[in-house]
Amino acid sequence: MSNFNRILPFVWPSRHRLFLSFFFAALVALLWGGNLTIVFPIVKVLMQRQSLRSYVTEQISLCQNDVQNYQRDVRQFNQKIERTVPEAETVSLLGLRARSESKLMRASQRLAGWRWVLVFVIPHVPEDHFDTFALILALFLGMTVIKLLCMLAEEVLVGGVVQLTIMGIRKKCFRQVLALDYQTLLSRGTSDLMSRFTYDMETLANGLSLMGGKVVREPLKAFSCIAIALWLNWRLTLLSLVFVPLALLVFHRIGRKLKKASHRSMESMSRIYKVLEETFDALKVVIAFEGGRRHRLRHHQENKVYFEKSMNIVFIDALTSPVTELLGMLAVTITMLPGAYLVLRDTPSIWGIRLAEVPMDAAELSVLYALLAGVIDPVRKLSSVFGKLKRSSAAADRIFELMDSASLVHDPRQSKTLPRELKTIEFRNVGFSYAAGRSTRPPALREVNLKVAAGDVIAVVGENGSGKSTLVNLLPRYYDPEQGGVLLDDIDLRECRLRDLRGRIGVVTQETLLFDDTILENIRYGRRDASAAEVVRAAEQAHVTPFVAQLPDGFETRVGEKGACLSGGQRQRIALARAILRDPQILILDEATSAIDSQSEALIHKTLETFVRGRTAFLITHSVTQSVLNLVNRIAVMDHGKLITIGSHEELLRTCPIYQRLYQPQAEARPAA
Ligand code: ADP
Ligand code: MG
Repeated sequence: MSNFNRILPFVWPSRHRLFLSFFFAALVALLWGGNLTIVFPIVKVLMQRQSLRSYVTEQISLCQNDVQNYQRDVRQFNQKIERTVPEAETVSLLGLRARSESKLMRASQRLAGWRWVLVFVIPHVPEDHFDTFALILALFLGMTVIKLLCMLAEEVLVGGVVQLTIMGIRKKCFRQVLALDYQTLLSRGTSDLMSRFTYDMETLANGLSLMGGKVVREPLKAFSCIAIALWLNWRLTLLSLVFVPLALLVFHRIGRKLKKASHRSMESMSRIYKVLEETFDALKVVIAFEGGRRHRLRHHQENKVYFEKSMNIVFIDALTSPVTELLGMLAVTITMLPGAYLVLRDTPSIWGIRLAEVPMDAAELSVLYALLAGVIDPVRKLSSVFGKLKRSSAAADRIFELMDSASLVHDPRQSKTLPRELKTIEFRNVGFSYAAGRSTRPPALREVNLKVAAGDVIAVVGENGSGKSTLVNLLPRYYDPEQGGVLLDDIDLRECRLRDLRGRIGVVTQETLLFDDTILENIRYGRRDASAAEVVRAAEQAHVTPFVAQLPDGFETRVGEKGACLSGGQRQRIALARAILRDPQILILDEATSAIDSQSEALIHKTLETFVRGRTAFLITHSVTQSVLNLVNRIAVMDHGKLITIGSHEELLRTCPIYQRLYQPQAEARPAA
C-alpha cells in the first residue's frame, strides 16, 4: 500500500475534481441509507395499517411521558441532594442526576423532532393508506434518480482524475527513465520497459478508478447504513459487527497472496512482450530461417505460464466474493435471531441482557435488517474490487521501482566548467568490464592510456571485440570507467555537467539509428535550431544529397520505422550528416562508413578532411584504406581490451604485426577494386 501514497502527488493537481467527486459520493451514500430507511413507513402503512399521523402522535405522547418522568427524576435528585449531608452520598447523587439530565435532554430532543415532523411533514401526507403508500414509492423513485445522477457525476469526475493522474505518472516515469544511463536501460531491456509503460500502467489505472469510485463510495454507503442502524438500536448493530475483525483478517491474508500472484503475472506478461518484440524486431531472420515455429512455441510457453499465473489470481479473486457474502450473512443472522426474539416475545431483553430501550416493533426491526442488508451490498462490491486494487498496487510497485532506479551516470554535485576550447583528451589508465549478472566477464578494457591533443584525428583499429567501441563510448559517458578516468583538459568527465559534455560531442554509432520521420528531420536531430540550408550543407558533406535527389519527395521523404525504407549505406550517410550538423568539437565515427560502398566512402573521407580541421576526431575502423590514412594523423591499435601501440602508419607497419594483418588484406584488395 505504501506505494499508493506516492501516487498522491500526482493526484494533487486534479484535487478539485476529486473533492467534488467525494461530495457526490457522500450524497450517494446518504441517499442510499435514506432509501433503505423508507422501509419503515412502508411496513407501518402496509402491514400494520397505521397512519403516519397516528404513529407520530403516539410517538409524541411517548416522548412527553419520558420527558415528564425524567423531569420528575431530576427534581427528586435535587431534593435529596439538598437534604443529604455526607459528602460521599452527595457525589453519587450528583452523578445520578447528571445521567437523568442527559436522558431528559435526549428525550426532549426526540420530542422536538417528532413535533417538527407533525407540523411540517404530516400535513403533506395524505390520510388515505394507499395514497400514502404511492407517495412513499414516488419519494423512493425520486431519491433513486437523484442518487443515480450523483453516481454518474462522481464516476465522470473520478475517471478524469484517474486519467490525469496516470498521465502524470507516465510522463514522470518517462522523464526518469530518460535520465537513466545507457547500461541500466540496456540491462532492463526494451520489452520490460514497454510492459511497465503499457500493461502495468493500465493495471494501475484500473485500480485507481476503483479507488476514486467504489472504494470511496461503497464504504460511505456502508457507513451511512451502519450509522442509521446504530441510531436505531446500537446494541443489536454492534452485535452484527463482531465479524468485522474476522473479515479484516481474512482479507489481509487474501490480499497478500493476491499481490504476490499479481507480481508474478506482470513479470510473465513482460516476458510475452519480450517474445513479441524479439520476433518482430528480427522479422528478416525469422522469415529467412523459418523460425516461425520456434517463436510460436516460445510464445505458447510464455502464454501458458501467464495463464497459470492468471488462474492463480482468478481463483483468489473469486474466493473473495463468497467469503464476504458468507460473513455478511452470518452477521445478519446473528442480529436477526435476537431481534426476532425481541419482537415476537415483546420484550426488551434476552436472558436479562437488555438489548433495546423499549420493546421493538416489526417496522423498526425491518428497517434494521434493511440497513444491515444495505451494508452487505457495498461490502460485496468492495470485495470484488479488492483483487483489482491489490493488482494495481503490485503494478504501482513495479512502476515506482522503475522510477526509483538510480542512474549510474549523473551530474556531479559541484560541476567544473570545461574551457571553451579543449586542449587535450586523455584516457588515463582506463579499465572497464561489462556487468553480466553473477558471472564475471573478462574486462573489455585494461589499462588503456591514450592522450590526444585537440585537433588530432585518431584512427582506432583492431579486430572485432577488441574494445574499440567500448573505449570511445566512454566519451559521451554511455558508461563510466571502473578504473582510471577520461579527462578533458585534466578535468575528469565525471566532474563536468552532462549537457556541457554531450553538447560538444557528435557520435555516429556502429548501428545506425534513425527515427520514423523525414530525412530532413532526422538530420536536424543533430541540432534542433539548424536552418534547412544548414541541414542541406551537412547532407552534402555526408553525401546524402546524391541519393536524396533521386527520391520524389527529396528531403521530405519519410525513412520508415528505424529507417527501414533506406539501404544500410544510406542510413549511415544520414547518421553522419546528423553528427556533422551538430558541429561538434569531438567527432566519434564508430565504423560509420562500414556499409557505404568504397567509392562513396573515399569521397566521404575526402570531405571529412576539411570538416575535421580544428576538431578532434576518433575514427574507428577495422579496414585501413588509403582514404583513412589521408584523413588521420595517428593510429591506435587495440587488441583484447588493451591499447597496444600508437603511431603513424609507417611506424606501425614496421613494428606492429597486428597492424600489418589489418592493413595487408586492404593492400591486396586495392588493385583488384
Ligand atoms: P569492438 O572493438 O568490436 O568495437 P567492443 O568494444 O564492442 O568491440 O566490445 C569489446 C568486448 O566487450 C567484446 O568482447 C564484447 O563481447 C564485449 N561487450 C560489448 N558490449 C557489451 C555489452 N553491452 N555487454 C556485455 N559485453 C559487451
Ligand atoms: Mg565496435
